[in-house]
Amino acid sequence: METLGYYNGAIGLLDELRIPMNDRACWFGDGVYEATVSANYIIFALEEHINRFFNSAALLRMSPTITKTQLAELLNTLVHKVDSPTQFVYWQMTRGTAPRTHTFPEHTAPNLWVMLKPQVFKDIYQKIKLITVEDTRFLHCNIKTLNLLPNVLASEKAKQAGCVEAVFHRGNRITEGSHSNVHILKDGIFRTAPLDNLILPGISRAHIIAHCVKLGIPVDETPFTLEEMFEADEIMISSVSTFCMSASYIDGYQVGGKDPERLRQIQDAFLEEFYQFTQTANHSASGRKQSVHKHGT
Ligand code: PLP
Repeated sequence: METLGYYNGAIGLLDELRIPMNDRACWFGDGVYEATVSANYIIFALEEHINRFFNSAALLRMSPTITKTQLAELLNTLVHKVDSPTQFVYWQMTRGTAPRTHTFPEHTAPNLWVMLKPQVFKDIYQKIKLITVEDTRFLHCNIKTLNLLPNVLASEKAKQAGCVEAVFHRGNRITEGSHSNVHILKDGIFRTAPLDNLILPGISRAHIIAHCVKLGIPVDETPFTLEEMFEADEIMISSVSTFCMSASYIDGYQVGGKDPERLRQIQDAFLEEFYQFTQTANHSASGRKQSVHKHGT
């Protein structure tokens, strides 16, 4: 199959699978989701993504009817049904199916959705452009809910400006990107926003911190400001689909580019980990795009 949709056991192409209108995703976006990628049909950091998924569900008082192990088995089975070995692997759980009413419906089980489509990886060493956007989201950004309208609007604004990502700030404080976490390098220190209710606990963020520790790069998880970002030696965004890319422009101003060696160390370490994990490791960490393509997109 070129793409795959899964809904409570039914499987079909994404364009063809039908969803009941009373699924609470339609009325309220009442659900949580996860996203990662596969290469060589191996799903990257699956266990961590499933753990965050169950945590998001618990925070919304949703009780999955599937265990973590069963979910992992299901996803690992489904990726093999799609032609491309490199895929965007997305799943969500919604509170159930019931006529529209705000309170939780009784007598309905959660619905499980999976969406798989081919993934073309970006070159993580490429420099990107960013814009800044006031963060007007709610105060539960640590939960990976389906409600992403401010993120969608900010992302579209970035696209219109010819940029890859929008960096949110609450007043002067940088929170995260519209679909990434944001970090800086300054005076040899890796700085990233703390894990609180204002940001998503990114899996890539956690991996980068672990790499920094291994590389002997000090990590500072205290909030940083807009000014500190503009004056940083390097500015990075991270997510499962971008891994760790660095910025050369923010709001049209030239930024970063002052600590390329340390930046490269972090990027190489992340990429190498990805290759090892997905068993696409018979190469040096010098070009993710070519290497992953070599294994058959
Ligand atoms: N922050 C937001 C708002 C996101 O949507 C994402 C990814 O989708 C991230 C951060 C990065 O998370 P991860 O590294 O787990 O992909």
